[in-house]
Amino acid sequence: MIDLAVIGGGPAGLTAGLYATRGGIKNVVLFEKGLPGGAIASSSEIENYPGVEEVKSGMEFMEPWNRQCFRFGLTHQMDEILKVRKENEKFVLKTYDKEIEAKNVIVCTGSTPKKAGFKGEDKFYGKGVSNCATCDGFFYKDKEVAVVGGGDTALEEALYLSNIASKVYLLHRRNEFRAAPSTIEKVKNNNKIELILNIHIEEIFGDETGVNGIKYKDKNDNISTLSVPGVFIFVGMNINHDILKQDDGSFICEINKKGEVVVDLKMRTTLKGLYACGDIREDASRQVVCAAGDGATAAIEIINSLH
Ligand SMILES: Cc1cc2nc3c(=O)[nH]c(=O)nc-3n(C[C@H](O)[C@H](O)[C@H](O)COP(=O)(O)OP(=O)(O)OC[C@H]3O[C@@H](n4cnc5c(N)ncnc54)[C@H](O)[C@@H]3O)c2cc1C
Repeated sequence: MIDLAVIGGGPAGLTAGLYATRGGIKNVVLFEKGLPGGAIASSSEIENYPGVEEVKSGMEFMEPWNRQCFRFGLTHQMDEILKVRKENEKFVLKTYDKEIEAKNVIVCTGSTPKKAGFKGEDKFYGKGVSNCATCDGFFYKDKEVAVVGGGDTALEEALYLSNIASKVYLLHRRNEFRAAPSTIEKVKNNNKIELILNIHIEEIFGDETGVNGIKYKDKNDNISTLSVPGVFIFVGMNINHDILKQDDGSFICEINKKGEVVVDLKMRTTLKGLYACGDIREDASRQVVCAAGDGATAAIEIINSLH
């Protein structure tokens, strides 16, 4: 039986594996369906990880993590975990062709932004289209940007961007927002945010250098264009929690309304021995540095629980 199974090899899982093995846990296996690295590996640049001054591509940035995190005995098993269930005192991890037993499990399978489906969204992803204001907002310092969405995240990210950009156009297909009243109030009172409501996005357009603007249609079918180099899309997140779903449709531990795994400050879920770290967990900041911190916290907690 494995002492510790870490599921997902992004910043959270790799850091959990590093801390667990360096902290003396013997048999720690990282289950990652692809190559370790996680979501950041798909990013063209990262420049907000403290201590790494150079601006690097996500791939380059994760390279030393892969070397360092496996230095103390962590092993990588390239497998997709389909389900985690608990049997008596142990966990059972199901893959396509086998079942693996583990004493403790840290789930770090991350989350994936939902796509809006506009023309140009995929073409310009990473070249002006983004799902993360904290990651990419700075590239639009003193420039105009568009934010698409009408929920809490869209409004919060619009507020964040208003501190950096010269102007934020907030485009929403409905007339009203589905967000906390206090956030809506802040957005409405922010003179750098212009609301464009009741519209339908037609396309995000640009050229080989990136996004040049966004085209939308109002309720009278009039087409308008905004010339912006950046479009931030926030139409929801898919939380990668399916492996925690049991045969009867219930979850093995508590999941909140947004689908995020509920944890305490030690990254413990509501089920003993099961931890969740990084973008999958409740109230995650969705940043590499935060995911790494979660991984370290969970591993330290497991080490302490063994004494
Ligand atoms: C384009 C882009 C740009 C970004 N820019 C920045 C930035 O500049 N700065 C910053 O701090 N953050 C940035 N982020 C956010 C950052 O990448 C995430 O916050 C971080 O990667 C979360 O780490 P994680 O370990 O929780 O999950 P992830 O990095 O998402 O890793 C999850 C891993 O789990 C694996 N996995 C999923 N399901 C299974 C399964 N069933 N079995 C086995 N393996 C599985 C996946 O393959 C993946 O490797 C960016 C994200 C993206 C997409």
